[in-house]
Amino acid sequence: MSEHTDGPWVESPEVSDAIIAVNGDRPLSGSEVSDYGGQVVCESVEQKNKAIIQAAPDLYEALKAVEWLESPAFDIGMCPCCGAEKEFGHAPGCLLGNALRKAEGGGE
Ligand SMILES: [Zn+2]
Repeated sequence: MSEHTDGPWVESPEVSDAIIAVNGDRPLSGSEVSDYGGQVVCESVEQKNKAIIQAAPDLYEALKAVEWLESPAFDIGMCPCCGAEKEFGHAPGCLLGNALRKAEGGGE
């Protein structure tokens, strides 16, 4: 599993096309703080893409929270998207499983 910089990710107060992490995971250089206002996640972001990039850490955590819901009837973890049991993994083409795999660096 790949790690990512903790959220929240927000628009830089200094550079309008940059997204920064408020709680960065590494020491920041002085210019990074003065130029961007925090740890740079990405820059040259079009306005239409800012919201989904800023939401990425929250979306990831939300998907992880529901990935293997406990089924009251069977007392096992099941994917709410494809219905697969946790021990067998997601069904091919499962949107939730594919999104998490992509977010964790496993490709599409
Ligand atoms: Zn699934």
